[in-house]
Amino acid sequence: MKESTSILIIYTGGTIGMVNDPVTGSLVPINFRHISDQVPELRRFGFTLESVTFDPVIDSSDVSPATWVRIAETIADGYKHFDGFVVLHGTDTMAYSASALSFMLSGLEKPVIFTGAQLPIGVLRTDGKENLITAIEIAAAHENGLPVVPEVCIYFENRLLRGNRTIKYSAEHFNAFASPNLPPLAEAGLQIRYNRNIIRYPTVRRPLGITGKFDTRVAILSLFPGIMRETVHSILNTAGLRGIILETYGTGNAPTLDWFLSELRAFMKNGGIVLNVTQCLAGSVEMGLYETSAGLRNAGVISGRDITTEAALTKMMILFGSGIPADKISALLAQPLCGEMS
Ligand code: ASP
Repeated sequence: MKESTSILIIYTGGTIGMVNDPVTGSLVPINFRHISDQVPELRRFGFTLESVTFDPVIDSSDVSPATWVRIAETIADGYKHFDGFVVLHGTDTMAYSASALSFMLSGLEKPVIFTGAQLPIGVLRTDGKENLITAIEIAAAHENGLPVVPEVCIYFENRLLRGNRTIKYSAEHFNAFASPNLPPLAEAGLQIRYNRNIIRYPTVRRPLGITGKFDTRVAILSLFPGIMRETVHSILNTAGLRGIILETYGTGNAPTLDWFLSELRAFMKNGGIVLNVTQCLAGSVEMGLYETSAGLRNAGVISGRDITTEAALTKMMILFGSGIPADKISALLAQPLCGEMS
C-alpha cells in the first residue's frame, strides 16, 4: 500500500449507522460522526480517510436513480484526488445500486466498494466494523502502483463480490449477499486473497465517464402457476412501458398458453423489449432447451443468460435512458457490458 493513499467514504445511510428512534423505537439512520466514533481503529490506517455524508442519510428502501447519480457524481468529483471509494449503503437495495454504478461508470480504474451492516455499528455484535475496515483496506490495495480491484464491488462478511453479480439473499445472516454465478473476487481471512483471474482490469485507458440518465419505464413480470391473463395484460399495457424483465422458471421456461405468448407478441410488436431472466438463484436461461422456452425465443424474447434481476433492471433502465435505437439496445442486452453475465 503506498503511503499517500487516500480513500473517500461516501455514507448514504443504512443499518450500519442507524440508532433506535427514541419516540417510535424504529431504526433510523444518523450521521457519519456516529460511525467514526464507534470505529476508532479508522485512525490507525496509515493513510488519509475523508468522508461525504448524504443529507439526508436514507434507508436504502428509499434509493432511486437520483441516489445513483449522486453517488456517481461524488465519485467523479473526487476521482483525481482519491485512490479508492467506499460506499456505505443499506443492504436492502445494495445489489441494485452496485449494479447501477457498474453500468454508469465507464473507464473506471479505481475501486468502488459498497458495504454496510446487518447490525448497527453501535451494537456490540455488529458486523459493521469488520465490513468497514476490510472494505477500506480493499479500496486502498495497490500493487505496482495500480489498484488491485478496479471494479464496483460489494464487500460483506468475508467476501468481495462483483457488484453486478450480487443478490441480497439473507435478511438475517451476516453473510447477506451471494454471487451465485461468479466466485468471489477476494476472500478475507488471515490475509485478503484476491482472485486475480476473475477481477476485470481495464484494457484501454480512458477518462472516467458517467452515464447518468435512467429511463424507469420498465417492469419486472415474475411468473407463477395460475397467473391471470388480466395481470399480464395490465402490466404489459402500462402506459409508456418500454421493457420488461420476465422472470421465468428454471432455464427460462414459461407457460405455453396461447394467450400468454400473444400478450408478449403484442407488447413487442409495439416496440417493447422482453428480457428473459431465471427465477432460480443460480444457473442460466437457455431458451430452446425445453419446448416451454422455444416459444419465447421464436417470439423475439432476449435471453438474459445468467444475469441477476437487479443487474438486468438497472442495465435496461440505463440503456433506455441512453437514447440509442431499440435494435442496438436489444443487442447490448444480449451481451455482457461489464462482467454482469458469463
Ligand atoms: N433497511 C436497511 C437498509 O437497507 C437494511 C440494512 O441496511 O441492512 O437501509
